[in-house]
Amino acid sequence: MKVFRLKKNLKNQITSLKKAQKSIGFVPTMGALHQGHLALVKASLKDNEVTVVSIFVNPTQFDNPDDLNKYPRTFETDLALLQNLSDDIIVFYPDAQDFYDGQVASQSFDFDGLELEMEGKHRPGHFDGVGTVVKKLFEIVQPDRAYFGEKDFQQLQIIKKLVEKEQIPVDIIPIPIYREADGLAMSSRNKRLTTEHRAAAPYIYQVLKQAKTLFAYKNIEDVKEFVTNAMTAHPLLKLEYFEIADEKTLKPAKQKIAGNKYRGFIVVYAGDVRLIDNIQL
Ligand code: AMP
Repeated sequence: MKVFRLKKNLKNQITSLKKAQKSIGFVPTMGALHQGHLALVKASLKDNEVTVVSIFVNPTQFDNPDDLNKYPRTFETDLALLQNLSDDIIVFYPDAQDFYDGQVASQSFDFDGLELEMEGKHRPGHFDGVGTVVKKLFEIVQPDRAYFGEKDFQQLQIIKKLVEKEQIPVDIIPIPIYREADGLAMSSRNKRLTTEHRAAAPYIYQVLKQAKTLFAYKNIEDVKEFVTNAMTAHPLLKLEYFEIADEKTLKPAKQKIAGNKYRGFIVVYAGDVRLIDNIQL
């Protein structure tokens, strides 16, 4: 397995792959890999001749320095997991100074308002950070296809918008949310949960599933009220937000319009660990 730390070395490798007309799949991650990430990598291995996985805890997308410092970093285990899938994977493990040419900062983006909802409101600058890193990664890797999880559904829609606006020639492939057997959405941050909070966390998906059932015959306000009450009743979990939004615009939905697709989006704190999840309604 090849591991690149400097972008110029990876660029040289990509140039020769392009010359040989190899199709390139790309999976950007922040590491601390789990089966959810590996589902993206497996999809890429199936569709492409070459798969590049980046592992980069990108400082510019963290609005909270504590979250950045505590973000799990398990590089050696990550490599072993990838190696287990295929020896042909190319790993990009950039150094922030080299990656950003010494200027670790975000560009600002207009994603037609997608960046103003939900995570955009609660994590100022987050999507500028995501847009900056993904745009740069696409320039270096030049993938034919790039894989993103529906777990970060707003991010997925923003990446689609980025590609459309910047006219980047890459297909964005969405991958469904991968869950633990008890329903908790897999996340690198789950590693930081205490035993108590880990035991409590599957409650989030139970509530989301109940919300989906209610959504079939209740109005949107009632479903939101149900989720807020259910979360408030839990002694160990703290709701940051629950929103029902249109899948395309991500604007909060007031009432159901036939033909539109809706999703419920939730963020919950389990201790100091911020958990994100969503469900198609
Ligand atoms: P992260 O390392 O958290 O930045 O995630 C890297 C990619 O993996 C993103 O596209 C995420 O949406 C995706 N991902 C993370 N967790 C899951 C999961 N449980 N199921 C599906 N995709 C996931």
